[in-house]
Amino acid sequence: RTVFVNGSYVLENEASISIFDRGSLFGDAVYEVTSVLDGKLIDYDGHMTRLRRSLDELKMPSPASDEELLEIHRKLVELNGIEEGLIYLQISRGAADRDFLFPGPDVKPTLLLFTQKKSLINSALAERGQKIILVDDLRWRRCDIKTVQLLYASLVKNQAHDSGADDAWMVLDGEITEGSSNNAYIVTEDGTIVTRDLSSDILHGITRKAVLKCAGELQLKIEERPFTVAEAKAAKEAFSTSATSFVNPVIEIDGAKIGEGTPGPVARRLREVYIASSKAAGI
Ligand code: PLP
Repeated sequence: RTVFVNGSYVLENEASISIFDRGSLFGDAVYEVTSVLDGKLIDYDGHMTRLRRSLDELKMPSPASDEELLEIHRKLVELNGIEEGLIYLQISRGAADRDFLFPGPDVKPTLLLFTQKKSLINSALAERGQKIILVDDLRWRRCDIKTVQLLYASLVKNQAHDSGADDAWMVLDGEITEGSSNNAYIVTEDGTIVTRDLSSDILHGITRKAVLKCAGELQLKIEERPFTVAEAKAAKEAFSTSATSFVNPVIEIDGAKIGEGTPGPVARRLREVYIASSKAAGI
């Protein structure tokens, strides 16, 4: 595989960054994951807009212009022959002597990108539906910034797997925030889609925005508000969204069967419609 690091396209086993990189020492880095379908970038502009916002919020300088970033994405997809999969981008504040204070302007940010071939559309998990466990949301309270501080998300995903489930949804004050690496939704008895409103409690999912647009076009009712654990367990349907899983049905929450215990019609329909419309808009 060819990867991109600090201005160069190199083979993955020849790529390196400093041991003093602030990304590994402080988690002082932001990232984006863009999916690739038919060799095209999906929701690319949304991901780059959010990347700029994450950088601004952390006062982190940008290592490349919008034009350069698009060119690197396209070139890596082409060089690695990615028809279906993802492209990962990470920017850290760079390498400097270890210090909690940010380094001066002479330190340049570290930019790295790599691709991963992956079957996204045909997903055994989406066919079966996910089993979810509920865990306390113990993350820092700026979940709207997409940083590489993913240890808690990784811990709870492992906790889910160890208990025979697929993923964890996080709970703050009795209400669901989001999944370990996805946004969370329920469908109520009367067919309303409910997902938490945007705030610093959740990542502002790019897929969330696109899927809610699809739902609006299908004339489905949408409520953006927090929902409780009790509402989730009693829901007619539930699902999650993310760039690489699209719309992913949920069939069980903390042992409670959701609906019929099989992927629900709203989630299945939204998955189809989102995939079709995002493919058509891919660049
Ligand atoms: N929430 C969290 C915590 C995530 O890590 C992610 C994606 O990685 C999402 C939500 C979904 O965001 P997107 O749809 O932009 O992939």
